[in-house]
Amino acid sequence: MFIYTKRRKKTCFHKRRSIKMSNITNHSTLGRSICIITGASKGFGRALAHKVSCWLEPGSVLLLVARSETLLQELKEELQSFTEEQQLVVHCVAVDLSKREGVNETIRVARQEAVNEIEHLLLINNAASLGDISHFGSFTNLEEVNSYLSLNISSALALTAGILQVFSCTPLMRRSVVNISSALALQPLPSWVLYCTAKAARMMMFRVLAKEQPLVKVLIYSPGPMDTDMQKDILRLTGVKHHLLPAQESADKLVKLLLDDDFVSGANLDFFDV
Ligand code: NAP
Repeated sequence: MFIYTKRRKKTCFHKRRSIKMSNITNHSTLGRSICIITGASKGFGRALAHKVSCWLEPGSVLLLVARSETLLQELKEELQSFTEEQQLVVHCVAVDLSKREGVNETIRVARQEAVNEIEHLLLINNAASLGDISHFGSFTNLEEVNSYLSLNISSALALTAGILQVFSCTPLMRRSVVNISSALALQPLPSWVLYCTAKAARMMMFRVLAKEQPLVKVLIYSPGPMDTDMQKDILRLTGVKHHLLPAQESADKLVKLLLDDDFVSGANLDFFDV
């Protein structure tokens, strides 16, 4: 049975209804959480911010992280009437996650909130870039390669490690870490060496975390091809047009997975398989 409270039903029913009602749910909400979403300014991260906020308990904190301050503030305003009513605190963290300062600033803002009574740490590593789509032999510039890997691999590791240090294991706190992945983490595609490499490395990184820290629930989620700016860039660069999903649909599935919480830590789940 899918449980939801009367209080939430009123304000967020349309969003909740789009999640299947028949499956067993282990959590009726995400609890009093600190939820950190990287790449929240647009695309999947932005859709996720809307969906996740409906399932946070009063007193929760939402950290929206991306480079564009304007887009983050716009998102905060979109969420405002709901977040005020639900007593959610929203922080916009406008930083470049490919830089040490950006990762450190995100951890600093999260640490400020660690004083509150938090039941659930939810970190969603979503920010990523497409990078250059070009044949293998063209990647001779070490700085260019490192810059790509810095955002798409290193920052996810350093941020996750830092956040887990701040919210260390306590008996009362649930800790969930999500890696937004891609089918290309497993499938090599000519000219996609940067993207495939980064997604494959990230997948292994989070599988190691799941093995090493059994008290952290790790989910690797491939959201499917979505109608976002990244896909616009893919079309522009390759001329390939995919059948695209609305980002909200994939965000709904991810939220449901987190509420159900019945996946094995380290699981790699794809939109089309769940
Ligand atoms: P998107 O529309 O390009 O959005 C990417 C997000 O990452 C934006 O919020 C962007 O914000 C942020 N970002 C990029 N560089 C950043 C940096 N240096 N520092 C901080 N934030 C940065 O991409 P999307 O399609 O929503 O993709 C979201 C996730 O899904 C990615 O991990 C992607 O690989 C994965 N995915 C997407 C698809 C798809 O079809 N779209 C398919 C499979 C997997 P700013 O520009 O404001 O920084």
